[in-house]
Amino acid sequence: MCGVFGIWSHPEAAKLAYLGLHALQHRGQEAAGIVAAGREDARFVRHLGRGLVADVFTEDDLAALGGTHAIGHVRYSTAGGTGTENTQPFSVMTSKGALALAHNGNLVNAKEIRDALEREGAIFSTPGDSEVFVHLLARARAPRLVDRVREAAAQVVGAYTLIVMHDSGMIGVRDPQGFRPLVLGELNGGYVLASETSALELIGAKLIREVKPGEIVSVDQHGVHSERLVHAPDAQPRSCIFELVYFARPDSSIFDTSVYEARVKMGQQLATEQPADADIVVPVPDSGVPAALGFAEASGLPFRHGLLRSHYVGRTFIEPEQSIRHFGVKLKLGPIRAVLEGKRVVVVDDSIVRGTTSRKIVAMLRGAGAKEVHMRISSPPSRYPCFYGIDTPTRAELIAATKSVEEIREFITADSLGYLSESGLHLAAGDPDEERFCNACFTGRYTTGRELIEPRLVQIDGR
Ligand code: 5GP
Ligand code: MG
Repeated sequence: MCGVFGIWSHPEAAKLAYLGLHALQHRGQEAAGIVAAGREDARFVRHLGRGLVADVFTEDDLAALGGTHAIGHVRYSTAGGTGTENTQPFSVMTSKGALALAHNGNLVNAKEIRDALEREGAIFSTPGDSEVFVHLLARARAPRLVDRVREAAAQVVGAYTLIVMHDSGMIGVRDPQGFRPLVLGELNGGYVLASETSALELIGAKLIREVKPGEIVSVDQHGVHSERLVHAPDAQPRSCIFELVYFARPDSSIFDTSVYEARVKMGQQLATEQPADADIVVPVPDSGVPAALGFAEASGLPFRHGLLRSHYVGRTFIEPEQSIRHFGVKLKLGPIRAVLEGKRVVVVDDSIVRGTTSRKIVAMLRGAGAKEVHMRISSPPSRYPCFYGIDTPTRAELIAATKSVEEIREFITADSLGYLSESGLHLAAGDPDEERFCNACFTGRYTTGRELIEPRLVQIDGR
């Protein structure tokens, strides 16, 4: 989980990168960074920090970046803890010039490559997998950067959406399976690359098109040039369906699909597969809202905001010494008694990960007078960890990995619990033949064949 942004040839490149990162903030809240180029002194200048985009950059920081080209990165929290998050974009000097690189995704064979490079004397300065690319690019011999990117990509397995900036151009790449999104846009004759269209929208850039799986797009003074990665010509595209379920912003369009519309359809499909005898449909904001709208529409039940989301919850807070029940969730969500009292409630959310938030929500709804609580989830049970960049916990922590639907219902104390089916999810995503998307988090059908390494243990903050 991460967001990447790049802008080539604009007098306010760094400021636009800053704005673009704001529109990608949902893809990572742990750290943010920008590297600017095209300055009079020809240097690549970098500013990084921990925390939200708005907190990492001051006006002075952006002015000091300067330049006419920039790439940026927002990072999601992962294991490894403090101090290791603010590492991207990388900015290095190679024998063939300066390079900056931002990566979204997760490489399945990073450890093997890293071990081999370290045995040969390479020195890594970060613990993650993304720096592997920097080394592979620096060691590649081909004169053209595009061919060096190809050479590096041929050695890695897994998910990578990359933006690479050099002195005379910028390159955007999606891995052959296209796990993570990347779109290409245009602004005043310059070019923009971004994880999602929400970033183009914010800065007023025009969408040109999505970068295709296995495509390398180069932008420079001559315009846009497209080539293919050649090492996996037959790879079947498998974009991440969980981007549509949860991760991407609903005002974005990725994988040539409107995220919002896909979520509404998931809710509609869920209502036909898992109807509930109830009085109102209530979303778990924000992630459950579009699916709840679809559920209400298809079931004919009224849609009601029964849970209010606070927009002012900081990421750190002082816990009261005396325990308050469901404290963490209460800070974020408040039940509206006038809506819930005496009602049979269908509560719709996009997914259940550990089940702890869902359990608190059910208790909160009952506490506010709901007579019955029927939980409906607009995706299948999340049973398997993701090796391609979604921050899932290990199998042991995924409640659906070890419990049946009935046991989960019991754990979250709902009157009933229903999940969307696999085929229903693909149908809603516009993929009735189930051939366009990776669904390994639901099915365990991993598609790169190299998922032997358990992902690092991570904290899910219950968003
Ligand atoms: P749970 O009941 O499993 O504790 O929490 C369910 C909530 O977690 C849902 O509202 C869902 O939107 C959210 N969620 C799903 N996947 C992720 C994730 O990868 N990261 C975070 N922070 N929240 C997630
Ligand atoms: Mg949620």
